[in-house]
Amino acid sequence: MALSKNVQSWGRYPQVASARVVPVYWRHEVPDLASFEAPVLPYAYGRSYGDSCLNEGGVVLDVSHLRRLLAFDEREGLLRCEAGVSLAEILAVMVPRGWFLPVTPGTKYVSVGGAIANDIHGKNHHRAGTFGCHVTCFELLRSSGERLLCSPTENSELFRATIGGLGLTGVILWAEFRLKPIANPLIDMERIRFASLEEFIQLSEQSDRDYEYTVSWVDCLIGGKEACRGIFMRGNHAAETVWTGRQRGQLPLSVPFDLPSLALNTLTVKTFNALYYRSQLRHAVRRLVHYDPFFYPLDSIKDWNRLYGRRGFLQYQCVVPFADGREAVRELLERIRRSGQGSFLTVLKQFGDRPSPGLLSFPRPGLTLALDFAYRGRETLRLLDELDAIVRQSGGAVYPAKDARMSAQSFQAYFPRWQEFARYKDPQFSSSFWRRVTGASSGEPTRTCHAERSEASLVTRASEPQP
Ligand SMILES: Cc1cc2nc3c(=O)[nH]c(=O)nc-3n(C[C@H](O)[C@H](O)[C@H](O)COP(=O)(O)OP(=O)(O)OC[C@H]3O[C@@H](n4cnc5c(N)ncnc54)[C@H](O)[C@@H]3O)c2cc1C
Repeated sequence: MALSKNVQSWGRYPQVASARVVPVYWRHEVPDLASFEAPVLPYAYGRSYGDSCLNEGGVVLDVSHLRRLLAFDEREGLLRCEAGVSLAEILAVMVPRGWFLPVTPGTKYVSVGGAIANDIHGKNHHRAGTFGCHVTCFELLRSSGERLLCSPTENSELFRATIGGLGLTGVILWAEFRLKPIANPLIDMERIRFASLEEFIQLSEQSDRDYEYTVSWVDCLIGGKEACRGIFMRGNHAAETVWTGRQRGQLPLSVPFDLPSLALNTLTVKTFNALYYRSQLRHAVRRLVHYDPFFYPLDSIKDWNRLYGRRGFLQYQCVVPFADGREAVRELLERIRRSGQGSFLTVLKQFGDRPSPGLLSFPRPGLTLALDFAYRGRETLRLLDELDAIVRQSGGAVYPAKDARMSAQSFQAYFPRWQEFARYKDPQFSSSFWRRVTGASSGEPTRTCHAERSEASLVTRASEPQP
Protein backbone atom coordinates (compact mmCIF):
# COMPACT_ATOMS: atom_id res chain seq x y z
CA MET A 1 0.00 0.00 0.00
CA ALA A 2 1.54 3.33 -1.00
CA LEU A 3 2.20 5.81 1.77
CA SER A 4 -0.15 8.78 1.40
CA LYS A 5 2.36 11.51 0.79
CA ASN A 6 0.99 14.42 2.71
CA VAL A 7 -0.68 12.66 5.58
CA GLN A 8 1.75 12.74 8.41
CA SER A 9 1.78 14.25 11.83
CA TRP A 10 4.09 17.02 12.96
CA GLY A 11 6.48 14.69 14.81
CA ARG A 12 6.78 12.50 11.67
CA TYR A 13 6.55 9.50 13.97
CA PRO A 14 4.91 7.10 13.36
CA GLN A 15 4.78 6.99 9.56
CA VAL A 16 1.71 5.05 8.53
CA ALA A 17 -0.08 4.40 5.24
CA SER A 18 -3.74 5.32 4.94
CA ALA A 19 -5.83 3.53 2.30
CA ARG A 20 -6.73 6.81 0.65
CA VAL A 21 -7.10 10.53 1.13
CA VAL A 22 -10.41 12.09 0.16
CA PRO A 23 -10.46 15.88 -0.13
CA VAL A 24 -13.59 17.78 0.87
CA TYR A 25 -14.08 21.14 -0.86
CA TRP A 26 -17.69 22.05 -0.12
CA ARG A 27 -19.55 21.46 3.11
CA HIS A 28 -22.69 20.51 1.20
CA GLU A 29 -20.83 18.00 -0.97
CA VAL A 30 -19.17 15.69 1.53
CA PRO A 31 -19.00 12.12 0.20
CA ASP A 32 -21.28 9.51 1.74
CA LEU A 33 -19.25 8.56 4.82
CA ALA A 34 -21.12 5.30 5.32
CA SER A 35 -20.05 4.08 1.89
CA PHE A 36 -16.37 3.86 2.75
CA GLU A 37 -14.99 0.38 3.17
CA ALA A 38 -12.59 1.43 5.92
CA PRO A 39 -12.85 3.70 8.99
CA VAL A 40 -12.78 7.44 8.39
CA LEU A 41 -10.86 10.25 10.11
CA PRO A 42 -10.87 14.00 9.39
CA TYR A 43 -7.43 15.57 8.88
CA ALA A 44 -6.63 19.26 8.59
CA TYR A 45 -3.05 20.57 8.88
CA GLY A 46 -1.43 17.64 10.70
CA ARG A 47 -0.10 19.85 13.50
CA SER A 48 -0.81 17.07 15.98
CA TYR A 49 2.46 15.42 16.85
CA GLY A 50 1.68 11.73 17.10
CA ASP A 51 -0.97 9.42 15.67
CA SER A 52 -4.26 10.98 16.78
CA CYS A 53 -4.56 12.56 13.30
CA LEU A 54 -3.46 9.38 11.50
CA ASN A 55 -5.59 6.50 10.28
CA GLU A 56 -3.50 3.54 9.18
CA GLY A 57 -5.31 1.55 6.48
CA GLY A 58 -8.29 3.89 6.73
CA VAL A 59 -9.79 6.80 4.85
CA VAL A 60 -8.45 10.26 5.63
CA LEU A 61 -10.87 13.09 4.92
CA ASP A 62 -8.83 16.16 4.08
CA VAL A 63 -10.98 18.98 5.47
CA SER A 64 -8.37 21.72 5.10
CA HIS A 65 -10.17 23.10 2.00
CA LEU A 66 -13.22 24.10 4.04
CA ARG A 67 -11.87 27.57 4.65
CA ARG A 68 -14.58 30.16 4.23
CA LEU A 69 -15.39 32.81 6.79
CA LEU A 70 -19.18 32.81 7.15
CA ALA A 71 -20.26 35.58 9.48
CA PHE A 72 -19.08 37.98 12.16
CA ASP A 73 -21.29 39.52 14.81
CA GLU A 74 -19.32 42.59 15.86
CA ARG A 75 -21.54 43.34 18.85
CA GLU A 76 -20.91 39.95 20.45
CA GLY A 77 -17.51 39.23 18.88
CA LEU A 78 -18.89 35.98 17.45
CA LEU A 79 -17.09 34.55 14.42
CA ARG A 80 -18.59 31.75 12.35
CA CYS A 81 -16.33 29.98 9.85
CA GLU A 82 -15.77 26.66 8.16
CA ALA A 83 -13.72 24.19 10.16
CA GLY A 84 -10.68 24.17 7.87
CA VAL A 85 -10.01 27.90 8.36
CA SER A 86 -6.66 28.28 10.11
CA LEU A 87 -6.00 30.45 13.13
CA ALA A 88 -3.41 32.28 10.98
CA GLU A 89 -6.16 33.27 8.52
CA ILE A 90 -8.41 34.45 11.34
CA LEU A 91 -5.61 36.56 12.83
CA ALA A 92 -4.78 38.09 9.45
CA VAL A 93 -8.38 39.21 8.95
CA MET A 94 -9.46 40.00 12.50
CA VAL A 95 -6.44 41.60 14.23
CA PRO A 96 -6.55 44.72 12.00
CA ARG A 97 -10.24 44.98 12.98
CA GLY A 98 -9.37 44.86 16.69
CA TRP A 99 -10.12 41.23 17.54
CA PHE A 100 -7.96 38.36 18.80
CA LEU A 101 -8.35 34.63 19.34
CA PRO A 102 -9.81 33.62 22.71
CA VAL A 103 -7.15 30.87 23.05
CA THR A 104 -4.22 30.06 20.82
CA PRO A 105 -1.65 27.25 20.82
CA GLY A 106 2.08 27.64 20.08
CA THR A 107 1.49 27.61 16.31
CA LYS A 108 -1.10 29.53 14.31
CA TYR A 109 -1.13 26.92 11.54
CA VAL A 110 -3.93 24.85 13.04
CA SER A 111 -7.51 24.68 11.87
CA VAL A 112 -10.63 25.60 13.84
CA GLY A 113 -11.78 21.95 13.55
CA GLY A 114 -8.44 20.73 14.92
CA ALA A 115 -8.58 23.32 17.74
CA ILE A 116 -11.98 21.94 18.78
CA ALA A 117 -11.13 18.25 18.28
CA ASN A 118 -8.11 18.55 20.59
CA ASP A 119 -9.70 21.22 22.80
CA ILE A 120 -6.43 23.12 22.62
CA HIS A 121 -5.02 25.32 25.36
CA GLY A 122 -2.66 28.28 25.35
CA LYS A 123 -0.64 30.63 27.53
CA ASN A 124 -3.88 32.05 28.99
CA HIS A 125 -5.27 28.76 30.27
CA HIS A 126 -5.23 30.07 33.86
CA ARG A 127 -7.71 32.77 32.79
CA ALA A 128 -9.53 31.57 29.69
CA GLY A 129 -9.54 27.78 29.96
CA THR A 130 -9.49 25.86 26.69
CA PHE A 131 -10.61 26.78 23.15
CA GLY A 132 -13.78 24.76 23.69
CA CYS A 133 -14.84 27.14 26.49
CA HIS A 134 -15.38 29.81 23.82
CA VAL A 135 -17.22 27.73 21.23
CA THR A 136 -20.92 28.55 21.07
CA CYS A 137 -21.99 26.02 18.43
CA PHE A 138 -20.92 23.94 15.45
CA GLU A 139 -22.42 21.72 12.80
CA LEU A 140 -21.45 18.05 12.92
CA LEU A 141 -21.85 15.65 10.00
CA ARG A 142 -22.31 12.05 11.12
CA SER A 143 -21.81 8.99 8.91
CA SER A 144 -25.58 8.47 9.07
CA GLY A 145 -25.86 11.58 6.91
CA GLU A 146 -27.34 13.64 9.76
CA ARG A 147 -26.13 17.22 10.10
CA LEU A 148 -26.48 18.14 13.73
CA LEU A 149 -26.33 21.57 15.24
CA CYS A 150 -24.48 21.13 18.53
CA SER A 151 -24.27 23.71 21.31
CA PRO A 152 -24.33 23.74 25.13
CA THR A 153 -28.13 23.50 24.90
CA GLU A 154 -28.77 21.54 21.70
CA ASN A 155 -27.32 18.03 21.27
CA SER A 156 -25.31 19.07 24.28
CA GLU A 157 -23.85 15.63 24.94
CA LEU A 158 -22.50 15.38 21.43
CA PHE A 159 -21.20 18.95 21.86
CA ARG A 160 -19.19 17.87 24.92
CA ALA A 161 -18.01 14.67 23.26
CA THR A 162 -16.83 16.48 20.11
CA ILE A 163 -14.84 19.11 22.03
CA GLY A 164 -11.61 17.21 22.69
CA GLY A 165 -13.18 14.25 20.86
CA LEU A 166 -10.12 13.63 18.62
CA GLY A 167 -12.15 13.81 15.40
CA LEU A 168 -14.03 10.62 16.27
CA THR A 169 -17.59 11.90 16.60
CA GLY A 170 -18.07 13.11 13.00
CA VAL A 171 -16.91 15.94 10.75
CA ILE A 172 -17.21 19.46 12.12
CA LEU A 173 -18.30 21.46 9.08
CA TRP A 174 -18.34 24.93 10.59
CA ALA A 175 -18.08 26.41 14.06
CA GLU A 176 -18.92 29.61 15.87
CA PHE A 177 -16.79 30.99 18.71
CA ARG A 178 -16.15 34.20 20.59
CA LEU A 179 -13.19 36.45 19.80
CA LYS A 180 -11.81 39.01 22.24
CA PRO A 181 -11.37 42.72 21.59
CA ILE A 182 -7.83 44.17 21.49
CA ALA A 183 -6.54 47.70 21.03
CA ASN A 184 -3.58 46.79 18.79
CA PRO A 185 -1.40 43.81 17.79
CA LEU A 186 1.15 44.34 20.58
CA ILE A 187 1.91 42.41 23.73
CA ASP A 188 3.42 44.15 26.72
CA MET A 189 5.69 41.35 27.82
CA GLU A 190 8.26 40.64 30.46
CA ARG A 191 10.88 37.91 30.71
CA ILE A 192 12.26 36.95 34.08
CA ARG A 193 15.03 34.48 34.86
CA PHE A 194 14.37 31.92 37.58
CA ALA A 195 16.71 29.44 39.17
CA SER A 196 14.48 26.80 40.78
CA LEU A 197 11.07 25.17 40.69
CA GLU A 198 10.10 27.06 43.85
CA GLU A 199 10.90 30.33 42.16
CA PHE A 200 8.89 29.29 39.09
CA ILE A 201 5.86 28.50 41.23
CA GLN A 202 6.10 31.79 43.08
CA LEU A 203 6.37 33.70 39.81
CA SER A 204 3.39 31.79 38.38
CA GLU A 205 1.25 32.52 41.38
CA GLN A 206 2.00 36.24 41.30
CA SER A 207 1.79 36.52 37.53
CA ASP A 208 -1.38 34.51 36.96
CA ARG A 209 -3.22 37.21 38.94
CA ASP A 210 -2.00 40.16 36.86
CA TYR A 211 -1.06 38.72 33.49
CA GLU A 212 -3.26 37.17 30.88
CA TYR A 213 -0.47 35.10 29.36
CA THR A 214 2.19 33.15 31.24
CA VAL A 215 4.57 30.39 30.23
CA SER A 216 8.17 29.44 30.87
CA TRP A 217 11.08 27.80 29.13
CA VAL A 218 13.07 25.37 31.25
CA ASP A 219 16.59 24.00 30.88
CA CYS A 220 15.90 20.33 31.46
CA LEU A 221 19.50 19.16 31.23
CA ILE A 222 20.84 20.84 34.29
CA GLY A 223 20.87 19.01 37.60
CA GLY A 224 21.85 19.81 41.18
CA LYS A 225 20.84 23.02 42.91
CA GLU A 226 19.85 24.79 39.70
CA ALA A 227 17.62 21.97 38.43
CA CYS A 228 14.68 23.67 36.78
CA ARG A 229 16.27 26.99 35.95
CA GLY A 230 14.63 28.85 33.13
CA ILE A 231 13.00 32.00 31.78
CA PHE A 232 9.48 32.99 32.75
CA MET A 233 7.46 34.95 30.18
CA ARG A 234 4.34 36.91 30.97
CA GLY A 235 2.33 39.44 29.04
CA ASN A 236 -0.86 41.36 28.46
CA HIS A 237 -2.38 42.87 25.35
CA ALA A 238 -0.95 46.38 25.15
CA ALA A 239 -3.02 49.49 25.68
CA GLU A 240 -4.05 51.64 22.74
CA THR A 241 -1.61 54.45 23.44
CA VAL A 242 1.56 52.41 22.87
CA TRP A 243 0.98 51.32 19.25
CA THR A 244 3.39 53.15 16.92
CA GLY A 245 2.80 50.90 13.92
CA ARG A 246 6.52 50.09 13.75
CA GLN A 247 6.40 46.72 15.47
CA ARG A 248 5.77 44.02 12.89
CA GLY A 249 5.40 40.27 12.68
CA GLN A 250 8.09 38.10 11.20
CA LEU A 251 8.79 36.36 7.94
CA PRO A 252 9.48 32.66 8.30
CA LEU A 253 12.91 31.12 7.69
CA SER A 254 12.69 27.54 6.55
CA VAL A 255 14.46 24.21 7.00
CA PRO A 256 14.44 22.97 3.40
CA PHE A 257 15.83 19.48 4.11
CA ASP A 258 16.04 16.89 6.88
CA LEU A 259 19.01 17.40 9.15
CA PRO A 260 20.88 14.31 10.29
CA SER A 261 19.29 13.29 13.57
CA LEU A 262 22.65 13.64 15.28
CA ALA A 263 22.44 17.38 14.65
CA LEU A 264 20.39 17.66 17.83
CA ASN A 265 22.36 15.64 20.33
CA THR A 266 22.66 16.19 24.05
CA LEU A 267 25.70 18.40 23.59
CA THR A 268 24.03 20.75 21.11
CA VAL A 269 20.94 20.99 23.27
CA LYS A 270 23.02 21.65 26.42
CA THR A 271 24.96 24.35 24.59
CA PHE A 272 21.79 25.95 23.24
CA ASN A 273 20.17 25.88 26.67
CA ALA A 274 23.17 27.43 28.41
CA LEU A 275 23.50 30.14 25.76
CA TYR A 276 19.78 30.90 25.83
CA TYR A 277 19.68 31.11 29.62
CA ARG A 278 22.70 33.39 29.72
CA SER A 279 21.57 35.46 26.75
CA GLN A 280 19.32 37.28 29.14
CA LEU A 281 21.90 39.17 31.15
CA ARG A 282 19.48 41.09 33.28
CA HIS A 283 17.19 39.35 35.75
CA ALA A 284 14.11 40.82 34.07
CA VAL A 285 13.46 42.41 30.66
CA ARG A 286 10.28 44.25 29.67
CA ARG A 287 9.35 45.00 26.10
CA LEU A 288 6.53 45.65 23.66
CA VAL A 289 6.43 42.97 20.99
CA HIS A 290 4.19 42.05 18.09
CA TYR A 291 1.90 39.12 18.93
CA ASP A 292 3.62 36.91 16.32
CA PRO A 293 7.00 36.36 18.03
CA PHE A 294 5.31 36.28 21.44
CA PHE A 295 2.86 33.49 20.64
CA TYR A 296 4.46 31.74 17.70
CA PRO A 297 8.27 31.82 17.94
CA LEU A 298 8.51 28.40 16.28
CA ASP A 299 6.42 29.47 13.29
CA SER A 300 9.33 31.74 12.32
CA ILE A 301 11.24 28.61 11.25
CA LYS A 302 9.14 26.91 8.62
CA ASP A 303 9.26 23.09 8.80
CA TRP A 304 11.35 23.17 11.98
CA ASN A 305 10.27 19.57 12.58
CA ARG A 306 12.88 18.57 9.99
CA LEU A 307 15.58 19.57 12.49
CA TYR A 308 15.01 16.17 14.09
CA GLY A 309 15.94 14.22 10.97
CA ARG A 310 14.10 11.53 9.08
CA ARG A 311 13.29 9.36 12.07
CA GLY A 312 11.17 12.15 13.49
CA PHE A 313 10.56 13.00 17.12
CA LEU A 314 8.04 12.59 19.88
CA GLN A 315 6.54 15.34 21.92
CA TYR A 316 5.51 14.54 25.47
CA GLN A 317 3.11 16.80 27.33
CA CYS A 318 1.72 15.88 30.70
CA VAL A 319 -0.17 17.59 33.48
CA VAL A 320 0.27 16.67 37.13
CA PRO A 321 -2.18 17.88 39.79
CA PHE A 322 -0.96 20.58 42.19
CA ALA A 323 -1.08 18.28 45.23
CA ASP A 324 1.96 16.23 44.12
CA GLY A 325 2.96 18.53 41.30
CA ARG A 326 6.32 19.75 42.58
CA GLU A 327 7.59 16.31 43.43
CA ALA A 328 6.31 14.84 40.17
CA VAL A 329 7.89 17.61 38.05
CA ARG A 330 11.19 17.21 39.91
CA GLU A 331 11.12 13.48 39.31
CA LEU A 332 10.21 13.88 35.63
CA LEU A 333 13.03 16.36 35.04
CA GLU A 334 15.52 14.22 36.95
CA ARG A 335 14.55 11.12 34.96
CA ILE A 336 14.94 13.02 31.68
CA ARG A 337 18.27 14.51 32.69
CA ARG A 338 19.63 11.09 33.69
CA SER A 339 18.50 9.59 30.39
CA GLY A 340 20.64 12.08 28.47
CA GLN A 341 17.83 12.47 25.94
CA GLY A 342 17.70 16.22 26.02
CA SER A 343 14.72 18.23 24.96
CA PHE A 344 15.44 21.20 22.75
CA LEU A 345 12.43 23.06 24.02
CA THR A 346 10.95 22.33 27.42
CA VAL A 347 7.92 24.29 28.47
CA LEU A 348 6.41 24.54 31.95
CA LYS A 349 3.14 26.24 32.89
CA GLN A 350 0.43 26.22 35.51
CA PHE A 351 -3.02 25.28 34.22
CA GLY A 352 -5.88 27.08 35.92
CA ASP A 353 -9.07 25.62 37.31
CA ARG A 354 -11.59 26.65 34.65
CA PRO A 355 -13.21 23.30 33.77
CA SER A 356 -12.62 21.98 30.25
CA PRO A 357 -15.93 21.36 28.48
CA GLY A 358 -14.97 18.14 26.67
CA LEU A 359 -15.40 14.59 27.94
CA LEU A 360 -11.84 13.81 26.82
CA SER A 361 -10.28 17.26 27.24
CA PHE A 362 -6.71 17.07 28.48
CA PRO A 363 -6.24 20.28 30.54
CA ARG A 364 -7.00 20.12 34.24
CA PRO A 365 -5.65 22.08 37.22
CA GLY A 366 -1.96 21.44 37.82
CA LEU A 367 1.52 21.86 36.39
CA THR A 368 1.99 21.03 32.73
CA LEU A 369 5.35 20.12 31.23
CA ALA A 370 5.97 19.70 27.47
CA LEU A 371 9.12 18.33 25.87
CA ASP A 372 10.44 17.08 22.51
CA PHE A 373 12.52 13.92 22.14
CA ALA A 374 14.33 12.95 18.97
CA TYR A 375 13.17 9.43 18.20
CA ARG A 376 15.99 7.02 19.01
CA GLY A 377 14.02 3.81 18.95
CA ARG A 378 13.44 1.66 22.00
CA GLU A 379 15.43 3.80 24.44
CA THR A 380 13.12 6.77 23.74
CA LEU A 381 9.99 4.67 24.11
CA ARG A 382 11.30 3.18 27.35
CA LEU A 383 11.99 6.63 28.79
CA LEU A 384 8.49 7.84 27.92
CA ASP A 385 6.98 4.75 29.59
CA GLU A 386 8.93 5.68 32.71
CA LEU A 387 7.58 9.21 32.56
CA ASP A 388 4.07 7.79 32.17
CA ALA A 389 4.48 5.81 35.37
CA ILE A 390 5.28 9.03 37.28
CA VAL A 391 2.34 10.86 35.72
CA ARG A 392 -0.06 8.00 36.46
CA GLN A 393 1.07 7.81 40.05
CA SER A 394 0.46 11.52 40.53
CA GLY A 395 -3.06 11.25 39.09
CA GLY A 396 -2.18 13.33 36.03
CA ALA A 397 -2.59 12.84 32.28
CA VAL A 398 -0.71 12.88 28.97
CA TYR A 399 -1.97 14.95 26.00
CA PRO A 400 -3.34 12.70 23.19
CA ALA A 401 -2.70 15.41 20.54
CA LYS A 402 1.00 14.99 21.20
CA ASP A 403 1.17 11.27 21.78
CA ALA A 404 2.30 8.40 19.58
CA ARG A 405 2.90 5.61 22.05
CA MET A 406 0.99 5.70 25.37
CA SER A 407 -0.42 2.33 26.41
CA ALA A 408 -4.12 1.53 26.63
CA GLN A 409 -3.67 1.17 30.39
CA SER A 410 -2.24 4.68 30.68
CA PHE A 411 -4.88 6.26 28.44
CA GLN A 412 -7.71 4.67 30.37
CA ALA A 413 -6.22 5.83 33.67
CA TYR A 414 -5.71 9.38 32.39
CA PHE A 415 -9.17 9.62 30.81
CA PRO A 416 -11.54 7.65 33.03
CA ARG A 417 -14.55 8.90 31.03
CA TRP A 418 -13.35 7.29 27.81
CA GLN A 419 -16.12 4.67 27.83
CA GLU A 420 -18.76 7.33 28.28
CA PHE A 421 -17.12 9.14 25.35
CA ALA A 422 -17.17 5.95 23.22
CA ARG A 423 -20.98 6.05 23.26
CA TYR A 424 -20.88 9.23 21.15
CA LYS A 425 -18.12 8.14 18.79
CA ASP A 426 -19.35 7.76 15.23
CA PRO A 427 -19.30 4.03 14.42
CA GLN A 428 -17.68 4.71 11.04
CA PHE A 429 -14.84 6.81 12.53
CA SER A 430 -11.53 5.66 13.98
CA SER A 431 -7.85 6.60 14.19
CA SER A 432 -4.53 4.88 14.74
CA PHE A 433 -4.47 6.47 18.21
CA TRP A 434 -7.96 5.25 19.16
CA ARG A 435 -7.30 1.68 18.08
CA ARG A 436 -4.08 1.65 20.09
CA VAL A 437 -5.54 3.01 23.31
CA THR A 438 -8.81 1.08 23.27
CA GLY A 439 -7.80 -2.13 21.50
CA ALA A 440 -10.51 -1.61 18.83
CA SER A 441 -9.55 -3.18 15.52
CA SER A 442 -9.64 -1.16 12.29
CA GLY A 443 -12.30 -3.42 10.82
CA GLU A 444 -14.53 -3.41 13.86
CA PRO A 445 -15.41 0.01 15.16
CA THR A 446 -15.87 0.20 18.94
CA ARG A 447 -19.45 -0.36 19.96
CA THR A 448 -21.32 2.90 20.20
CA CYS A 449 -24.71 3.78 21.53
CA HIS A 450 -26.96 5.51 19.08
CA ALA A 451 -29.19 6.95 21.75
CA GLU A 452 -28.05 10.40 20.84
CA ARG A 453 -29.53 10.08 17.37
CA SER A 454 -33.07 10.00 18.63
CA GLU A 455 -32.61 13.03 20.81
CA ALA A 456 -30.55 14.82 18.24
CA SER A 457 -32.25 17.30 16.03
CA LEU A 458 -31.40 17.55 12.40
CA VAL A 459 -30.11 20.88 11.27
CA THR A 460 -32.96 21.88 9.07
CA ARG A 461 -33.15 25.52 9.77
CA ALA A 462 -30.51 26.57 7.25
CA SER A 463 -28.66 27.65 10.33
CA GLU A 464 -25.66 29.09 8.59
CA PRO A 465 -25.72 32.62 7.38
CA GLN A 466 -24.33 32.96 3.87
CA PRO A 467 -20.76 34.16 3.48
C1 LIG B 1 4.56 24.00 17.12
C2 LIG B 1 3.31 23.47 17.74
C3 LIG B 1 2.87 24.03 18.92
C4 LIG B 1 1.70 23.55 19.51
N1 LIG B 1 1.29 24.14 20.67
C5 LIG B 1 0.16 23.71 21.26
C6 LIG B 1 -0.32 24.34 22.44
O1 LIG B 1 0.28 25.28 22.95
N2 LIG B 1 -1.48 23.89 22.97
C7 LIG B 1 -2.19 22.88 22.39
O2 LIG B 1 -3.24 22.53 22.93
N3 LIG B 1 -1.76 22.26 21.28
C8 LIG B 1 -0.60 22.65 20.71
N4 LIG B 1 -0.17 22.05 19.55
C9 LIG B 1 -0.98 20.96 18.98
C10 LIG B 1 -2.02 21.48 17.98
O3 LIG B 1 -2.58 22.69 18.43
C11 LIG B 1 -3.16 20.47 17.87
O4 LIG B 1 -2.67 19.20 17.56
C12 LIG B 1 -4.21 20.90 16.81
O5 LIG B 1 -5.36 20.13 17.03
C13 LIG B 1 -3.72 20.66 15.38
O6 LIG B 1 -4.71 21.13 14.50
P1 LIG B 1 -4.74 20.73 12.95
O7 LIG B 1 -5.69 21.66 12.31
O8 LIG B 1 -3.36 20.64 12.42
O9 LIG B 1 -5.43 19.30 13.02
P2 LIG B 1 -4.88 17.84 12.69
O10 LIG B 1 -3.60 17.65 13.43
O11 LIG B 1 -4.89 17.60 11.23
O12 LIG B 1 -6.01 16.99 13.39
C14 LIG B 1 -6.12 17.04 14.79
C15 LIG B 1 -7.40 16.32 15.23
O13 LIG B 1 -8.51 17.09 14.82
C16 LIG B 1 -9.42 16.29 14.07
N5 LIG B 1 -10.04 17.19 13.11
C17 LIG B 1 -9.46 18.09 12.29
N6 LIG B 1 -10.40 18.75 11.59
C18 LIG B 1 -11.60 18.26 11.97
C19 LIG B 1 -12.95 18.53 11.57
N7 LIG B 1 -13.26 19.44 10.66
N8 LIG B 1 -13.92 17.81 12.17
C20 LIG B 1 -13.65 16.88 13.13
N9 LIG B 1 -12.39 16.60 13.52
C21 LIG B 1 -11.38 17.28 12.94
C22 LIG B 1 -8.56 15.20 13.45
O14 LIG B 1 -9.30 14.04 13.17
C23 LIG B 1 -7.55 14.95 14.57
O15 LIG B 1 -8.09 14.07 15.53
C24 LIG B 1 0.98 22.49 18.91
C25 LIG B 1 1.43 21.92 17.73
C26 LIG B 1 2.59 22.40 17.14
C27 LIG B 1 3.07 21.78 15.85
